[in-house]
Amino acid sequence: MASEKNVDLLITGGTVLCMDADLRTLENHSVAVDKGKILDIFPDGSAVYQARETLNAADCIVMPGLINAHTHLPMTYFRGLADDLPLQAWLNDYIWPLEAKLLDRDFIRASALHGAAEMIKNGITQIHDMYFDMPSIADACSQAGLRAIIGEAVIEARLSDPASRKALGTKVLEMRRRYWDDPLVDFDLAPHSLYACSQATLEQCAQVASEHGILSHTHLSETKNEVEQCLAQHGKKPVFYLSDLGLLALPAVYAHAIWVDEDEIALLAENPASIAVCTECNLKLASGILPLSSYLKHGVNVCLATDGVASNNNLDLLAELDVTAKLHKAINEDPAFLPAQQALGMATRNAAKALGISDKRGSLEVGKDADITVLDACCLNGQPLYNPYSHVVYALGARSVRDVVINGELVLRQGNLTKVDEAEIIASAKQYQTKIKAALH
Ligand SMILES: [Zn+2]
Repeated sequence: MASEKNVDLLITGGTVLCMDADLRTLENHSVAVDKGKILDIFPDGSAVYQARETLNAADCIVMPGLINAHTHLPMTYFRGLADDLPLQAWLNDYIWPLEAKLLDRDFIRASALHGAAEMIKNGITQIHDMYFDMPSIADACSQAGLRAIIGEAVIEARLSDPASRKALGTKVLEMRRRYWDDPLVDFDLAPHSLYACSQATLEQCAQVASEHGILSHTHLSETKNEVEQCLAQHGKKPVFYLSDLGLLALPAVYAHAIWVDEDEIALLAENPASIAVCTECNLKLASGILPLSSYLKHGVNVCLATDGVASNNNLDLLAELDVTAKLHKAINEDPAFLPAQQALGMATRNAAKALGISDKRGSLEVGKDADITVLDACCLNGQPLYNPYSHVVYALGARSVRDVVINGELVLRQGNLTKVDEAEIIASAKQYQTKIKAALH
């Protein structure tokens, strides 16, 4: 009899979608998790482990946790507040005035906690966030058990005093020092957009990111209007402007990138740039539809994101997968475009590549971090099951997310959050709703 090894967690009997380089699909396999890492992936019954906790994943799909590559977590309380408006009216008449009146540490913390809990329930294990007050977001994510890379939005309006301009270079490093012992959170630099930052600020961001090897996170060419503005002000297309600023040569995630020309896509492909595709938000705000087939043809790394919930209005990455795949099949008049397995790659391995964490996450492999999502396929919309990738993208939906493991910890068990109280989070949202409504008038 083989000797038994003690492990923290065993997930048994599932169909494991590794999303590794070989895109292995392993039926009737178990995953052993110990000390936050994947210790073993093996055919059921072929190895003996004594686990502190065992999840029976028969009739389940076991896959890498989804990575949401562009979010604004603390905007969760603005969900559905003002819909069906043009982007500028939505921002100028609602979001910005409310942010000016309401944002404080408590608001950001509570709204971010709500968003973090919702992400987990949707099978998301890591986010890439941009907002204000990094510590409140970090604390909220840590409390819920969600991984996050957090950047403070750099906008010109907030850099009026020399101290805050100077802090651009030190803030990320300071945050890394402060949270060095928290495995869930990390920080990056988030120059908001080309239109919200001056040329000098963007050049300073490039210099800081280059000097310290920090990832950067920016909104790019979301609307036709901002592209025209860039051409008028700088005499060049946005991606060429990024190149001249020194930002394009550095690892970065660009959200949206809808209004780009072929020569800009070719230039993006030559650089360590990734595109966060935000389909539902782009459709809802009628911003446009990005040229996904051109990006893929040029070999640009594309990943997937919900953007902030205030413009989506959900944090459901499985829904993004579904609508993105279908939309681009229709646009390309090709049902074979973006097959389900490739689509799932956008929300897992491609996103890990975008965030510079491919060595740790984005696939289920021995030695990698145990960030795992379990989908229950034993349901009416999950049976019969011929192709698990097809089910993940087109059939199951977020309601099938049963368990979520992050850093080896079970943060969602049988649909229940283990680290935060869902009822309390809902109660807090209702309280803030009253405050937000009062602030509107
Ligand atoms: Zn955004």
